Amino acid sequence: MGRVAYVNGRFVRHADAAVHIEDRGFQFADGVYEVWAVFDGRLADSAGHFARLRRSLGELRIAVPMSDAALKIVLAETLRRNRIRDGLVYLQVNRGVASRDHAFPDPPVPPSVVITAKSVDLAAGEARAARGVGVVSLAENRWGRCDIKTVGLLPNVLAKQAAREAGAAEAWFVDDLGLVTEGASSNAWIVDAEGVLRTRDVQANILRGVTRNSILGLVAELGLRLDERPFTLDEVRSAREAFITGAGSLVLPVVRIDGVGIGDGQPGPVAKRLRGLYISEAQRSAA
Ligand code: PLP
Repeated sequence: MGRVAYVNGRFVRHADAAVHIEDRGFQFADGVYEVWAVFDGRLADSAGHFARLRRSLGELRIAVPMSDAALKIVLAETLRRNRIRDGLVYLQVNRGVASRDHAFPDPPVPPSVVITAKSVDLAAGEARAARGVGVVSLAENRWGRCDIKTVGLLPNVLAKQAAREAGAAEAWFVDDLGLVTEGASSNAWIVDAEGVLRTRDVQANILRGVTRNSILGLVAELGLRLDERPFTLDEVRSAREAFITGAGSLVLPVVRIDGVGIGDGQPGPVAKRLRGLYISEAQRSAA
């Protein structure tokens, strides 16, 4: 059997999977999503992603489509049917299908739910992390509620494409004050010139990364010096090292920004150590 997707209560062939043309996710990006890393068929940072899903749905007043327990069963079944050992599972919940009208459907309609899964080559990820990646900087142009994980990702799409065209793996958004907010699909970190780990605080307009949060736990356990304070591009250029975190990238060393090397131009010791620790802890606690 080939790839299978879950769409509104059914498992269907991936090639045939579809939502209605008046699904509000399609017409208005009126939906939210989550992505879990999968290790050995189990979800990494499971609880954190479920909690953020609830929060995103609540902020947009989209109905919760099913209990966490039921959702967990459907996610697990999607992984099983796709024979995923290590990979990613994607969940999208849209407000539902209704005749096109900007305001919410009244009476409400059932939310639509789509789940897909894919395998990831862990060895290729390790090789990439051992080389490190480049990032490009771009002016922040997203809306003011990036804390909600919505499917309104056009600025992120354009940023990622700009990164790709520059031979980089990620784009870092920079706000009006010249401070880095986060990546197009990851949170941004540096070890600054003084050896202090820096990442932007979550009061700001950024996604509250689940991986970021787990890394903060590791940082506390290791007793590393940490300051949740934004940094400028100058500080990135003079940093000892840099990295990104996310369910897709895990912990990925950044060795260049806008074509200029960071530190000695190689993945740094803090990023490498946190990657190793994060992956073993995520594998151990996957549920
Ligand atoms: N920031 C943005 C804009 C993202 O899209 C993502 C993940 O997709 C992250 C940060 C990292 O979040 P998480 O660690 O929960 O995957």
